[in-house]
This record gives sequence, C-alpha cells and structure tokens, in this order.
Amino acid sequence: MNFLASLPPVLYLISSVMFTLGIKRLSKVKTARQGNTLAALAMLLAVIGTALELGWVDPTFILGGLVVGTAIGAWTALTVKMTAMPEMVALFNGSGGAASALVALASYAGLREKGLIGTGVKVFEGGTLPAGVQVFVLLGSIVVGAVTLSGSLVAWGKLQGRLAKGKPILLPARHALSVALLMSIIGVGVWFGVGTAEFGTSALWIVTGLSLLLGGLLVLPIGGADMPVVVSLLNSYSGIAAAAAGFLVGNPVLVVAGTMVGAAGLILTRIMSDAMNRSLANVLVGGFGQTDAAGGAADEGYEGVTQAGPEEAAMILEGAQSVIIVPGYGLAVAQAQHVCKELGELLIKRGVQVSYAIHPVAGRMPGHMNVLLAEADVPYDLLYDMDAIAGSFKQTDVCIVVGANDVVNPAAANDPSSPIFGMPILPAHEAQTVMVIKRSLSPGYAGIKNSLFEADNTLMLFADAKKMLTDLVAEVKEL
Ligand code: NDP
Repeated sequence: MNFLASLPPVLYLISSVMFTLGIKRLSKVKTARQGNTLAALAMLLAVIGTALELGWVDPTFILGGLVVGTAIGAWTALTVKMTAMPEMVALFNGSGGAASALVALASYAGLREKGLIGTGVKVFEGGTLPAGVQVFVLLGSIVVGAVTLSGSLVAWGKLQGRLAKGKPILLPARHALSVALLMSIIGVGVWFGVGTAEFGTSALWIVTGLSLLLGGLLVLPIGGADMPVVVSLLNSYSGIAAAAAGFLVGNPVLVVAGTMVGAAGLILTRIMSDAMNRSLANVLVGGFGQTDAAGGAADEGYEGVTQAGPEEAAMILEGAQSVIIVPGYGLAVAQAQHVCKELGELLIKRGVQVSYAIHPVAGRMPGHMNVLLAEADVPYDLLYDMDAIAGSFKQTDVCIVVGANDVVNPAAANDPSSPIFGMPILPAHEAQTVMVIKRSLSPGYAGIKNSLFEADNTLMLFADAKKMLTDLVAEVKEL
C-alpha cells in the first residue's frame, strides 16, 4: 500500500486521541491551556489527513483556507475582551453549524456533478451507509447546521445587546409557527427522499431556508440570564451537525470530534440550567427577563442603603478572622483580579482565613471567574464551588462581593415573585458583614433589584472594582 494513502487513517486516529485528551484537560484550569493546544494540534492533523485523503483537491485551497482561518481565529482570540467571550463562542458555534450545512450541500452537489443522479434515495446507493440513512444524515446535517447558524446569530445579537437589548422577543403564535416550520421541513425532506432528482437541489435549498428561519425563531423568545444555556445548547447542536457531516463524507475524526462537542455541550447545558434551577424545556419556551420586573432597572426603589469607604472597610477587616470573596462580572469588567488577589494575600498574611466562592454562572461565560482568578495566580485550593462553600457564610466574619449581583441576590431564595426565584445563590447575606463593591445600585444581568444592598449588615462600597480594591489594599497595608 502506498505510504501516503495509508497515512490518513493513522492521522485520524492520533487526532481523535488528542481531541479526547485535550477535552479532558479542559476540565481543570491548571491543564486547560495544554488541552487547548492539544486540541488545536489535533485539528491540524485532521486537516492534513483529510487533504491527503482527498488528494485531488487543489492544495492552494487547503493552504489558503488554513491561512485565512488561522488569521481570523488568532486575531479574534487575541483581541476579544474577556467580557465578550460568550458572543465569540456564539459566533464560533454558528460557524460550525454553517460549515456542516455547507459540507452536506457540497457533498450532494458533488454527487450530482459525478452524474450519480437517480430517483430519490437512489442517488446515494453505493455509499458506505444504506441510502435511506444517508438521506437522513444529509438532511440532519443541513437542518441542525442551519438552525445552529441562525440561532447563534440571534444569540450573538442578544448578547451584544443589539437585538431587543438582549430581552426576549415574543412573537404572536410563535409556538404554532415553529411547529409549522418543523412540519414543513419534514415534508420537504420526505419529498427530497422519495422525489425525483431533478428537484433535489431545490428541495435542499428550501430545507436550508426553512431551517434558518426555525433557528432564529427558536432563539428570539429567549433572553436575559437564560442566554448562557442557549449558547451551550447551540454549541451542542454544532457538534451534532458536524458528526452528521462526518458520517456523510466518511470522515471518522469529524464524527469523533463532533460527537464529543455534542455530548460536552449537552452536559454543560444541563449544568447551567441546574445552576439556574430551570428546566431546559422551561428555558426553551422562553420569555424569561422580558420585563424589568421586581424593582426596575434604575437606582430607585432602595431604602436604607449604607455606604462606606475603603478606610471604614479596612477597619472592619482588621477585626475579621474569616473572609469570603465573591467575584462576579464586575471583577472582569474592571480587570481587578490581580489587585483582588493582592488583597487576599495581605489578609492571609494577617492570619485571616480567606476563600473565594465561585458561582457556576458568575460572569458571562462558564468558568469565567476560575479563568480570571487563575490568570492572577490565585491558588486553586482557595477556590470553592457554590455547593462546597454555601454552608460556610453563616460562620464568616466578612463577605466581600466584588462586582457580583444576581449570584448573591437573596430574592432567588426568599421572594417567590422574583423572576430568578429558585436559582441557587451564594448566601452572602448570611455573613456577619457584607461589603459590596460596585459602581452604583444598577441591576445585574437579570435586570432586577437586589435586597442585599439594603440589608442591615451590608455596606456598599461604590466605585470601580479595581479602584476600590486598590484603595482597600493601601488601607489594609496601613493597619
Ligand atoms: P451581574 O451581571 O448580576 O452583576 C454584575 C455587576 O457588576 C453589576 O451590577 C454592575 O453594577 C457591576 N459592575 C460592572 N462593572 C463594574 C466595575 N467596573 N466595577 C465594579 N462593579 C462593576 O453579575 P454576576 O456575576 O453576579 O451574575 C452573572 C449574571 O450573568 C447572571 O444573571 C447569569 O445568569 C448571567 N450570565 C451568565 C453567563 C455565564 O455563562 N456565566 C453568560 C451570560 C449571562 P454597577 O454597574 O453598579 O457597577
């Protein structure tokens, strides 16, 4: 056997193993970078394997694609702000969906070009899979890919606040419309499967168009704090579409990688919806966050708020033996992770027991706080997941909330009328003294009032998180 011809399967196997090890390493902050590099190299091997396997493809296309794709990817990754990561992930998911749908459309066009046009499923006879299955996989790849593309673009618009300021858009009869679209897609799919080849291409374009409409329609009614769940679900869809495309073109590494993304996305979706105490069905029906319910979006509606400065805060910290720091989205905006670590270190040096409490949906992407604190080299053993630390607040002297809001909102636990009622929170209010560092009384992502800010044991430290923590560090150094 020719050496070059025997290479692709070997490269596919190595690439699949590297993808698996890469994704495993992504599960821990310590090994995540290594995992990312491993997965990127696996992708390079997969591309080389595919290029060798296809042989007849003009190498300038492959090289051109590699250069353009690498340039766009590198530029995006280097310039994206940490706070804009969910938008970037949404766009990447959409690109994955689009790529799979295009692969499916191109593979059908290829069959036609080779003159393999028969009646209906006969077009696919002679493939590695039964013809009926091939048709199903082809349609699956197009439908899921197109739904992922348009759904991700709508999610991107929402996360950017360009589309209805991120709020749900509730079209009348939207559920009936979605069902009608789905039925039409199935109808045209059947027509494609049993119809004449003459109309095959038109049928596929119609399926693509209807699926694009369906994807947009499915994400429009979802908004507010439900967006992370949707983004991770779309991530899972992009994996499923890729796996289907892999079956279609007989590329095993695409099947492996697609299946892993599909499964990982689904697990993450489950973790995120559990963290918000919402069922997936409830999220997908939509409507959450369409009003500024329970308190409005502005600074109004608060009574008895106690304000303090860094000097007073430092004096309270002087007498503290235990401190829990709760980081949130504002820490990322202010890029205050380094000075936050400095404060933690200073307190530890003074004999204070310091822990960091991490809520699973704090910030704007899964693992956001872990990444930020890892960047500042905060020791991993000081970081505690919500479940591990929730019971400790009662015995804690001071809880410092840095730019977090929704994840410490007691309404989630004690106000059944609140839109976030039922979402597990970090019970910061149970600490003896709570210090909240944020710039104003503005609400967080969910757009609702937070009664923690007017609690008797809460001091509001109004300022940019980096500035306030810097001042606080200076004060603690003086103690
Ligand atoms: P929130 O969005 O609830 O609140 C963040 C707070 O940070 C704001 O109230 C804001 O108040 C403050 N802030 C902003 N900039 C600064 C700054 N420079 N300095 C100090 N404070 C600042 O954040 P949480 O982390 O508590 O909760 C995350 C929310 O985001 C949840 O509702 C979650 O569902 C949602 N979400 C999570 C995603 C994820 O994957 N983790 C993805 C998308 C949404 P002020 O303006 O007054 O300073």
